[in-house]
Amino acid sequence: MHTAHAEVLIVGSGPTGLVLAIDLARRGIPHRLVERSERGFPGSRGTGIQPRTLEVFDDLGLLPAFMAESRLIPKAQAWEGPERVRVWDFVESADASPGVPYPDPRMLPQWRTVELLVERLEELGGHVDFRTELTDFAQDPDGVTATLRHADGTVETVRAGWLVAADGGRSTVRKALGVPFTGEELTAQPVLIADVLLAGDDRAEIDSDHWHMWPRAEGGLFTLRSLEGSDALQLMAAFDATVEPDRLRDVSAEDLTRLVATRTGMRLTVTEVRWVSDFRARTAMAERFRHGRVILAGDAAHVHPPNGGQGLNTSLQDGYNLGWKLAAVLRRGAPDALLDSYDAERTRVAAGVLGLAASVHRADRAGGRDGLQRRGKETHQLTLGYRDSALSRDLRHDVPEDALRAGDRAPDATCMDASGSPVRFFDVFRGPHFTLLALTDEEFTAPAEDWIRTCRVGGGASADLRDAHGHAKSGYGSGFFLVRPDGYVALATDDVADVAEYVKLVAA
Ligand SMILES: Cc1cc2nc3c(=O)[nH]c(=O)nc-3n(C[C@H](O)[C@H](O)[C@H](O)COP(=O)(O)OP(=O)(O)OC[C@H]3O[C@@H](n4cnc5c(N)ncnc54)[C@H](O)[C@@H]3O)c2cc1C
Repeated sequence: MHTAHAEVLIVGSGPTGLVLAIDLARRGIPHRLVERSERGFPGSRGTGIQPRTLEVFDDLGLLPAFMAESRLIPKAQAWEGPERVRVWDFVESADASPGVPYPDPRMLPQWRTVELLVERLEELGGHVDFRTELTDFAQDPDGVTATLRHADGTVETVRAGWLVAADGGRSTVRKALGVPFTGEELTAQPVLIADVLLAGDDRAEIDSDHWHMWPRAEGGLFTLRSLEGSDALQLMAAFDATVEPDRLRDVSAEDLTRLVATRTGMRLTVTEVRWVSDFRARTAMAERFRHGRVILAGDAAHVHPPNGGQGLNTSLQDGYNLGWKLAAVLRRGAPDALLDSYDAERTRVAAGVLGLAASVHRADRAGGRDGLQRRGKETHQLTLGYRDSALSRDLRHDVPEDALRAGDRAPDATCMDASGSPVRFFDVFRGPHFTLLALTDEEFTAPAEDWIRTCRVGGGASADLRDAHGHAKSGYGSGFFLVRPDGYVALATDDVADVAEYVKLVAA
């Protein structure tokens, strides 16, 4: 039988697999992205996109499209039956600052985010092999041999250097590896989630400017909200633990019309059910994400309760952490240990985020008159970082306690180029390279590696950028900052000679 080859085989074209594929495509790394469904994910599910993910989209060239179609999270409208009770801010919002240009979470149905990711991948020359399912694989020291089944029944063998399992919470790959997936069932209550069309005499009451919530509805919490770019609404209903989830999945428009009437007391009719699913909030995580040449990412590695909108964001940032490391191993002969840093960095982040999502879930369950709790800045994922990573080197002495450190997210800062035009650090970082930010007026020899771009920020004649507003100084201080392709400070030092030593961690 013919065997196809790929340097990286990615299983699953959810947000995780797509972000990884985009990152590999822009680096020119041949890969294969297989997806068993016909067209990608059809439901609204993960709508909340956090500020840190917006920065990832900026780097990957996706932000303008995403901003144009998404919107800020609307205010909540609490109801008691057909009576409006109170309007309140569901999320804590913040003003943009020099270091944080996108301070607020935004919303877009997951199916549309996934489509935008597919479009970006195609712009970069990549594509998704839909209707192609991984059914089996075996790994050896040099690679992975995988069996793919196409929708027409044909079977294909693929030989790949690396297999990335981005195949979701029920991951075939994780199960085949026998990796324990442990966590906590946070509640026995099933929740129904559906995308529906709504009509009826009271339809105009369910305006698109609010997220409508019935915290004390008979039978449990009930919410309705308009979906961006769509005539559909997302309906969510919590049920008593005695209700069998199977009963939820088979609901018809008539069943949902009855449910809406019971929970809201309003004259509303569900005229179409476009997508329906159910879940029980739980946390679960694999102890390790790297298993030789097989790497778990996204929901395949960790599942979150939906509260606080963390799952999709954490998942696609796995792909973003992994892309440049795989490329460094494949193209620059970087040591294999670089991929262990994916495991170390992302297991730590996932464990922390799971703890956060579980605590938001508990606060939501405790309820209160508004039903759900206000979401604070801790859900924005801007303070996540890798200070404890073996890849983070801070070689400075006597640094103030609150200073930016190696491992921290590299903040934005607006400077000026020689013509007086504003240039942001995020403009300088955008792309697959490392950036050496030199915040110094000293003369020095820039690193020779073509994958490191040096940007001199200062007042000297050779400066690329002038810190006209002091943003760079206040965000970074002074010295040399080597910024990773995924936007974290790799190295902070006062001596540019340290860069050569650091390079050995990420290249041959
Ligand atoms: C009700 C609800 C609300 C949520 N809200 C949010 C939110 O607001 N914000 C947030 O961040 N997260 C949210 N989430 C979580 C989010 O939806 C997931 O974390 C996200 O989808 C994970 O992305 P992924 O790419 O890892 O996996 P998935 O999106 O599950 O994608 C996996 C893909 O792999 C494919 N696949 C599986 N097996 C195979 C195989 N053997 N061969 C080929 N293809 C395969 C599947 O068809 C699927 O397309 C929510 C989840 C739920 C249930």
